Amino acid sequence: MNKVIVIGGGASGMLAAIIASESGAEVLLLEKNEKLGKKIYITGKGRCNITNACDKDTFFENVVSNPKFMYSPYSQFDNAGIVRLLERGGLKMKKERGNRVFPVSDHASDVTAALKKLLDSAKVKTRLNCEAAEILTSGEGEPDGKPHISGVKLLNGEALEADRVIVCTGGLSYPSTGSTGFGLSEAKRLGITVTDTRPSLVPFNVRETNYVEEMQGLALKNVSVRVTDSKNKVLYTGFGEMLFTHFGVSGPLMLSASALVGDEIRKKPLSLRVDLKPALDQETIDKRLVRLFEKNKNKQYKNTLSEILPKTMIHPFAMISGIDPDKKVNEITKTERDGIVVLLKSFPLTLTSLRGFEEAVITRGGVSVKEVDPKTMESKKIRGLYFAGEVLDVDAMTGGFNLQIAWSTGFVAGKAASISKQ
Ligand SMILES: Cc1cc2nc3c(=O)[nH]c(=O)nc-3n(C[C@H](O)[C@H](O)[C@H](O)COP(=O)(O)OP(=O)(O)OC[C@H]3O[C@@H](n4cnc5c(N)ncnc54)[C@H](O)[C@@H]3O)c2cc1C
Repeated sequence: MNKVIVIGGGASGMLAAIIASESGAEVLLLEKNEKLGKKIYITGKGRCNITNACDKDTFFENVVSNPKFMYSPYSQFDNAGIVRLLERGGLKMKKERGNRVFPVSDHASDVTAALKKLLDSAKVKTRLNCEAAEILTSGEGEPDGKPHISGVKLLNGEALEADRVIVCTGGLSYPSTGSTGFGLSEAKRLGITVTDTRPSLVPFNVRETNYVEEMQGLALKNVSVRVTDSKNKVLYTGFGEMLFTHFGVSGPLMLSASALVGDEIRKKPLSLRVDLKPALDQETIDKRLVRLFEKNKNKQYKNTLSEILPKTMIHPFAMISGIDPDKKVNEITKTERDGIVVLLKSFPLTLTSLRGFEEAVITRGGVSVKEVDPKTMESKKIRGLYFAGEVLDVDAMTGGFNLQIAWSTGFVAGKAASISKQ
């Protein structure tokens, strides 16, 4: 019977531990927090978007980094696999807009509870408040000279023996949940390549802080956005919801944009254009403005804007339009009105940088997939060492795809690590 230590009790670690134990291994799950799955509690705004009930092609289209690496793990354990497993743990699930799967209860804690139930029935030993400090290897007895796993040393100095170690310690995002990069630094120390890491699915800082600060908290629904580089090349377009924050822009649209323009923004600031009236063309908007201005002839420009814009946007909009906010509407010229139309269709902001790991849904980059066998998740450099979840250089768009990566890779690592040595 293989002795397997799983480091990290997040989504991938719990899955790996359940499967390794159900497949016949003696499993010890180490989690440095006081409870399992701390990150799961905050996923999907506390509701946990468990997976996406899409077809196979859509899944791979939504994996941004190294989708090909996911072919084997996803074919071994896909979205239906995690739904079946969680059902076995007593969880009832529902499908929402965009095929997003959530617990019927809308409580992320119920996902962790189902996993906990499966861990208990698989008789996985769990140690909480238990931080791994070092992965132990030995080179003895291996004909090919490859080092192999011998155990894990804990922060308290205790050394635990193991035949296999599965590293499920996450990336660097939301470090407050426990993912502080242990797996990445240990991989580097052991001579395994770790690709450049940076935050992804993360808000942006913008240059126009004076304007956005005024609009802080404003959510714009049903808008179109376009992100272009300095040569006007379109890098991202999307339709949906965005949010203004005290430093810049966030919300589903902007998080998705960050996953696709993150490399470009490192080089130079990017231009963001927000179409506030995507359903209307310029001519229709102009006609509407003419009617509005006729109806409100003696009103000030700023007071008339309240009929077409959210309250907190009026002052910034008026300033950018270059028209005196106190000007009477009947004094607004045709050229000025044309400017208003353009601004409604193309409200300008400058994206200067991504926010940090503290606010990032995921980490881009990680343990190089070139050095991990996709059929087993075993390191090609160290025998008996496995990686699963966000620690790997694989990431996806929002919609349940990142947790699916954790479930699929956790499953494969758990299964493979349980197979006894020949
Ligand atoms: C706000 C937010 C919302 C999200 N919402 C969704 C969503 O709805 N759907 C979706 O698909 N994805 C979502 N994600 C992404 C998803 O949560 C992650 O991709 C996923 O949790 C990664 O799982 P993991 O097991 O690899 O890592 P983690 O969940 O980060 O787990 C790693 C665990 O390892 C432990 N650990 C670290 N170092 C050590 C050590 N040295 N010793 C012992 N334990 C250690 C940590 O404490 C932690 O519990 C969201 C992420 C965030 C931040």
